[in-house]
Amino acid sequence: MSFLLKKHQNLPAYAPGDHAEGAGVIRLNTNEPPYPPSPGVAAAVAAEISALQYYNDPDCTQIRAALAQRYGVSPANVTVANGSDELLYFAFMSFADETHPIALPDITYSYYDLFTAALNIPLVRIPLRGDFTIDPSAYCKIGKMIVIANPNAPTGYALGLDQIEDIVKSNPENVVLIDEAYVDFGSKSALGLTERYENLLIVRTFSKSRSLAGARLGFGFGSERVIADIERVRNAVNLYSVNRMTQAAGVAALKEDDYYMENCQRIIRAREYTTRMLRQQGFEVLDSLGNFVFAKPSGMGAAALKEQLAQRGILVRHFNQPRIRDYLRISIGTMEQMQALDAAIEMIFGRA
Ligand code: PMP
Repeated sequence: MSFLLKKHQNLPAYAPGDHAEGAGVIRLNTNEPPYPPSPGVAAAVAAEISALQYYNDPDCTQIRAALAQRYGVSPANVTVANGSDELLYFAFMSFADETHPIALPDITYSYYDLFTAALNIPLVRIPLRGDFTIDPSAYCKIGKMIVIANPNAPTGYALGLDQIEDIVKSNPENVVLIDEAYVDFGSKSALGLTERYENLLIVRTFSKSRSLAGARLGFGFGSERVIADIERVRNAVNLYSVNRMTQAAGVAALKEDDYYMENCQRIIRAREYTTRMLRQQGFEVLDSLGNFVFAKPSGMGAAALKEQLAQRGILVRHFNQPRIRDYLRISIGTMEQMQALDAAIEMIFGRA
């Protein structure tokens, strides 16, 4: 017999990318950067180990101060969490419930679905246009909490700041959450708008541009009001969720931020190469602003190609979902890894 409450029995299961590790495996399926953390991170993490008998700072004072300084805001405008996934959860819990739905694009980051299912939050799914872009006018004056990944995943398309501002301005009674997980790869951040709009919440992560996916560190920016609201929920639910080592890792990473920003430039160059290369291979490729591209192969179905690539040790992501099942999401690794992808595709299509 199951003791699980009936309302939880049909919770959807997240289908993560395959986490196979090891020699010869090229992981282009989870949007991790191919570069390790900067040297200062190892030392900072090691230094925390001898203090592990003590609880971590629940207010995350140092990492919040470091983020505030890096981004030119006050610590009262910053919150942190155990990955941006946890921050998303806290934000959903803070601003939506059974009777307060969330509006979001029909094709977007799949975890939004899971969190909202767990919290019984109804979704208003707004279809992307036929070309996979977001129609900003569909969100104006909608009168509901809005969640938009910018750039969106898995398309990699981003809205401009004017469009974000129109959405935020026209929904003053509701929180507009902009998930900027991929912002460091070329799109514009809406951070500057948080000074003017109390209802704007920006969610970010150390997982993509700062090589700390396994440390779990997400952060958010917003008005003092919105941040205080989230802090209230965070305090009640999981006050110590950002452990000592992770807080120290984040502070150390920000001290060496040039390293990460240079890596982002490398990834952008590899993305441009990959886009050209895949187009030459006959794929349709969206112009992505993330550390991934969304591409439709020709001459073979996406699911079949994913399997063929996996047999050659290259992992990519396929979503078996209406409108996008002909596409693969391919994370951008090093130039060498993307060249290996090129060679594998040549082999698979018998062109090599
Ligand atoms: N938002 C988006 C749009 C993502 O793609 C991801 C990662 N897959 C996340 C948030 C979560 O990142 P993390 O929890 O590692 O910070």
